Amino acid sequence: MSLQIKGKMAESDAVARLEEVRDSIARAAREEGRNPDDVTLITVSKTFEPEAIRPLLEAGQREFGENRVQEAKSKWPALKQEFPDIRLHLIGPLQSNKVREAVALFNVIHSVDRPSLARELGLAQKKLGVEQMPELFVQVNTGEEPQKAGIAPQLVDEFIRTCREDFGLSIVGLMCIPPADEPPSPHFALLKKIAKRNGISKLSMGMSGDFEQAIMLGATHVRVGSAIFGARDQAL
Ligand SMILES: *Cc1c(COP(=O)(O)O)cnc(C)c1O
Repeated sequence: MSLQIKGKMAESDAVARLEEVRDSIARAAREEGRNPDDVTLITVSKTFEPEAIRPLLEAGQREFGENRVQEAKSKWPALKQEFPDIRLHLIGPLQSNKVREAVALFNVIHSVDRPSLARELGLAQKKLGVEQMPELFVQVNTGEEPQKAGIAPQLVDEFIRTCREDFGLSIVGLMCIPPADEPPSPHFALLKKIAKRNGISKLSMGMSGDFEQAIMLGATHVRVGSAIFGARDQAL
């Protein structure tokens, strides 16, 4: 079998898995009496090349997640020329010195997690105007894991207030990544509770292994990588 044919088969696999994930999302939403259209599927394309992404674009997928600004910058501007309605989500940590690039490239930033970053975003907003800003989600470290990004649950209300009142930012969503070795549902429930008391309607939670549970608990955005693209080379 030639490499090219092998490549083609891998592509159609990803499109088939995309359809399966879409079906599972719709089923989970309906079970909860929710409209499947209220759940945005973000296909997480980190580490994958444009040639692996293109079949999904051709199949109509438009929302994509990346965890690094530099990698996204090298992959997406060319694809955006071809598919102008692509929407990009930054789901990885954002360094303050990359804010300008991130704001220019991404439609949604899921990883607002500290006052110094909020300050930079506030400055960018002053310069560019509110209309040019991506939607902003605060990342919450629901498992209080020291190695993980996100604001601690006991600090999050104050942080959201700071984002809004001190820096004029519109915080529309919350994001979490539950600890790998714990059942995710309590973390999803905690995120929902924090959102409710802060008047926040969007919940970015659920990955390949647990997106159905997240939808049961109110996820509006699920971030699915390996269930669609297959296993990544490195744990990134
Ligand atoms: C990589 C990543 C995902 C996707 O993980 P899968 O298990 O491959 O679906 C989701 N969210 C974040 C923040 C990620 O970094």
